[in-house]
Amino acid sequence: AAPITAPAEVPAIRLRKLVKTFGDVNAVDGVDLDIRQGEFFSMLGPSGSGKTTVLRMIAGFELPSSGTIELDGADVSTKAPFERDVNTVFQDYALFPHMSLIDNVAYGLRVRGMGKNERRERAAQALERVQLGKFVARRPAQLSGGQRQRVALARALVVEPKVLLLDEPLGALDLKLRQQMQIELKELQRSLGITFIFVTHDQEEALTMSDRIGVFSNGRIAQTGSAHEIYRSPQTAFVANFVGTSNILTAGIGGTASGPGASFVVRPERLHLNWEATAHDAGHLTPGARVLAGRVTSAVYVGHATQVHVELDAGPTVIALVHGDVPDTDALKGHRVTVAWAEHDAVWLPDAA
Ligand code: ATP
Repeated sequence: AAPITAPAEVPAIRLRKLVKTFGDVNAVDGVDLDIRQGEFFSMLGPSGSGKTTVLRMIAGFELPSSGTIELDGADVSTKAPFERDVNTVFQDYALFPHMSLIDNVAYGLRVRGMGKNERRERAAQALERVQLGKFVARRPAQLSGGQRQRVALARALVVEPKVLLLDEPLGALDLKLRQQMQIELKELQRSLGITFIFVTHDQEEALTMSDRIGVFSNGRIAQTGSAHEIYRSPQTAFVANFVGTSNILTAGIGGTASGPGASFVVRPERLHLNWEATAHDAGHLTPGARVLAGRVTSAVYVGHATQVHVELDAGPTVIALVHGDVPDTDALKGHRVTVAWAEHDAVWLPDAA
């Protein structure tokens, strides 16, 4: 019998060769991307890497210089914002200060011509969903930053868009509230099943919340993958450095065997620091491990661990993350140590960067 194959799913968003230039700035320089239905997708990258411009093109606030944007298989590249089944939550919330919360949230339904009773009912439900059911009569000024952010969410979700675009929506919140909202947002997205596209420059935020992440650099996507794939297997030096902390070492350093590329990454938590042993001893302790000797240049206590900087005799300085009790950090300076890593913890970079 012929194998039964599911028809290929139409992506929620498909970008092809997307380019946007402002004068002589290539803000977006050829982006190809498929975002799946119901996915929580983050666009992560440093300031100026083109994330917001891609989001604004998906929303229809900017038109591409070239390339195409498809929503659910339909080309919307030149369509007006209101002709696209997407909605946006901005960092500054953009609430109407003179309106009550319920009127703020019902606004989008009003402009779509929905009757008063129904739109108030829907708006109340949306506010309930973001835990603001008690505050329907308040004005935005009577709320905390986190509560205003929830109103902005309710207002964007009440019109039931296929895709919700979020541009650094948690950027104005303090760390605790931000972390709490990250969990709430992710749960809300799961329960609604709406595709979320989330712009952030905060790698921890992207790693925590996303089904997949696109890492932006200079108007392009350097790598797309799950948090796990991006962290465990960075494909370029840029991604290795931008997402987490990386030690990037040259093949053959200190007489270690060369591998399939010109350089490789070892994450700080994969470097084993040995305070006592000589390189020779450590090599015997850990079969197959690579071992290099060096000298501690600094040790920084970061609460859950200590970051130890080791200047290798072979040249570069590496960072090792040491959990558990470490001797007095001040006394460590100048201490001779060895660092070791298992061969499978070296991630070879395909590029020669
Ligand atoms: P951030 O995290 O700071 O928002 P970003 O990754 O979202 O950065 P974009 O806002 O997309 O980056 O900007 C990409 C590049 O395009 C930057 O160099 C920016 O200065 C430029 N740019 C963006 N919008 C305009 C505009 N309207 N006119 C001119 N240049 C622009």
